[in-house]
Amino acid sequence: MTSLLLLSQAAVISLSVVFGVLIVAEFAIIGYFIYKRYRPRTVKPKVTQASNDDNNDSVAVTAETGEASQYILDVSDLKQYFPVGKSLLGKPQSFLRAVDGVSFRLERGKTIGIVGESGCGKTTLGRTILRLYDITEGSAVYTDEQGKQYELAKLTKKQLRPLRTQLQLVFQDPYSSLPPRMTVGSIIGEAVRVHNIVPKSEIHDYVLDVMKRCGLQPHYYDRYPHEFSGGQRQRICIARALAVKPKLVICDEPVSALDVSIQAQVINLLKKLQREMGISYMFISHDLSVVKYISDSIAVMYLGNIVEMGSTADICTNASHPYTQALFSAVPVPNPHRKAKPEMLEGELPSPANPPKGCKFHTRCKHCMQCCTEEVPQMREISPGHFVACHLFDEAEQNDVAVEQDVQEE
Ligand code: SF4
Repeated sequence: MTSLLLLSQAAVISLSVVFGVLIVAEFAIIGYFIYKRYRPRTVKPKVTQASNDDNNDSVAVTAETGEASQYILDVSDLKQYFPVGKSLLGKPQSFLRAVDGVSFRLERGKTIGIVGESGCGKTTLGRTILRLYDITEGSAVYTDEQGKQYELAKLTKKQLRPLRTQLQLVFQDPYSSLPPRMTVGSIIGEAVRVHNIVPKSEIHDYVLDVMKRCGLQPHYYDRYPHEFSGGQRQRICIARALAVKPKLVICDEPVSALDVSIQAQVINLLKKLQREMGISYMFISHDLSVVKYISDSIAVMYLGNIVEMGSTADICTNASHPYTQALFSAVPVPNPHRKAKPEMLEGELPSPANPPKGCKFHTRCKHCMQCCTEEVPQMREISPGHFVACHLFDEAEQNDVAVEQDVQEE
């Protein structure tokens, strides 16, 4: 009788254990499926994926002509969106459209100036091209001197590494972009050593030569960044970028933190180095006088888009987009007998997380029409090489088409 009782108790206990295990397993399976369905995902709307295969060069190199192309950089419909806010399940609530479909080309050995007010996306554009951010959509093709084309959007980190010497960035703030515990010689020489630009035994002399080119005295070699003025620190930053023999340098407001006299020195230094080394610059600035001086062509950005683009002469003497006109009217005139008439733009720059419909500038434009609030203006060539995105020029184009049709009918 006792053994029967013991047996039944053992059976009950083992059944309870089995049921317990089954219930735990069931919860684990349900939990797994819930997690799989609602787990926080990588927050990009439509990402141009880089290849995971680091050895797949066909992804990196889109063409190989053997000749240096006229254009060193060809950017097409480039987009950079950042997620804003997250729902309870980790999904982004909206996207900040910092760069929203930018296209331009940069000629080899030339300078393109990117201008626009703070928050328009110029800095993000530069950093996106250099892949400091993963590109959301669009393409940026870099062509090296041998004619090899690299689709920067598709390169993996490993594939990008050899290109890092050819694509360099000069930061806005020379104070924070230099490591305070390294001497000038080691700051400039570090990338030279890592990328084997010259044999190890020649690094010291090579760094001294680069310093000389950039107007830095040889005895600065063993000094630390805090011992220098702002202008000298920016020269160190430029020397660091140039030491690896770059072909394209993105200068992100390189002189905005400097005095006017020092600005002129640094700009002249950049121009001199461009003549000597054939470097191409993408010069980002909100200072139109500086951009006018250094650039061969200018692109004007507003809220993540280029609204006008052309040669420096076209943009400075024949600014056609209402936003460009307002920007240039605010440039001080160095003539006491001519009165400047700055055009006041009303209202704040709208949020790139919630841009206005139609033309993004319509909330501040004095020429705003009904169509501006509904339709996005397309880029149109109003004279050779001069492009404007504004509905004011739609009519002119339609008239041209009508005239062409009349001529054909006759
Ligand atoms: S499209 Fe309309 S709102 Fe936009 S800049 Fe031209 S006139 Fe102004």
